[in-house]
Amino acid sequence: MARPAQVRLSAAALRHNLTRVRSFAPAAKVMAVIKANGYGHGLTWVARVLSEADAFGVASVDDGIVLRRAGVTQPVCLLEGFFQGDELPLLAEQRLSAVVHHESQIRDLERVSGIAPVDVWLKIDTGMHRIGFDPQLAADAASRLRDCKAVGALGLLSHFANADNKFDATTSFQVRLFQDLAASLGGERSLANSAGIVAWPESRLDWVRPGIMLYGVSPVIGQGSAELGLEPVMTLQSQIIAISPRRKGEAIGYGGDWVCPEEMPVGVVAIGYGDGYPRHAPTGTPVLVNGRRVPLIGRVSMDMITVDLREQPGASIGDPVVLWGAGLPVEEIAARAGTIGYELLCHVTPRVSRVELAEC
Ligand SMILES: *Cc1c(COP(=O)(O)O)cnc(C)c1O
Repeated sequence: MARPAQVRLSAAALRHNLTRVRSFAPAAKVMAVIKANGYGHGLTWVARVLSEADAFGVASVDDGIVLRRAGVTQPVCLLEGFFQGDELPLLAEQRLSAVVHHESQIRDLERVSGIAPVDVWLKIDTGMHRIGFDPQLAADAASRLRDCKAVGALGLLSHFANADNKFDATTSFQVRLFQDLAASLGGERSLANSAGIVAWPESRLDWVRPGIMLYGVSPVIGQGSAELGLEPVMTLQSQIIAISPRRKGEAIGYGGDWVCPEEMPVGVVAIGYGDGYPRHAPTGTPVLVNGRRVPLIGRVSMDMITVDLREQPGASIGDPVVLWGAGLPVEEIAARAGTIGYELLCHVTPRVSRVELAEC
């Protein structure tokens, strides 16, 4: 039999989460963000399931080409823009739009000739301080882009730094700065990521750019996905492959970090960091065995983890184990492992088999 580690993907949950985005931001168009292989869910699978999205956001021309080959007809935007001027003819040919965040990209657009116009989003740095034009240079950048033959529609875009925290004043500042610029520069406006969509109504504007919430993960601190009406799209699942009675004092796994405090059953699950389960998940991280929580014990290995089965003496080999997803939010596992749900979803490795759940 095949190794039981599986990613189970729910198209129904993905579509449901898009309807949640639309109910938060009914007046906005939706650019579904599907970079990093659709946050680990599969680029073309996500695009196909989200056929109702108004546009898609990706990180490279290669992703754009894959989407076009898969028959995606909506606008596809390169969120980091193009990396070199010589990509521009390909962008035009594939009808990919691009974020322009740096002056060198404007020069590339001014220099290129003989291509169909490329739609452009001018990215303003309103406080993230990563990429984007300084607000004081935005008007000049916009007028140069408007004068470019190679540029089609021009929109205005910015990105939040701290929108996951409802009490952080940076976000309101970013919204105001962006709105002031948009009022003078014109064009369609796009500001909100998932956290903006959920927590900052004034940021919804013309286009929203949800990523993580489409996959069913809460984008804000202090509110769970269930509370926001989001459903997990990915469930990482495996099975128990061994159960052994251990004696008091026996140390479990590499380093012997965890020592049995009494005689107890210890289960072994076929999942490990070689599958993308976080190696830093500590003892106590919850794992669902037969739908009920048991704690991880000892170190995560490449192919296996060990779990404390004292609360589930009836468990047996072949029983289903959920590492995250349905019944166990990935945010919770991420918090235990000192990371974020985004990273865990992106890092599931190719050896894990993919199962697309039938829709009922
Ligand atoms: C990744 C990304 C998003 C989506 O962010 P989420 O927090 O996943 O909703 C939106 N906009 C840009 C520019 C991005 O890079």
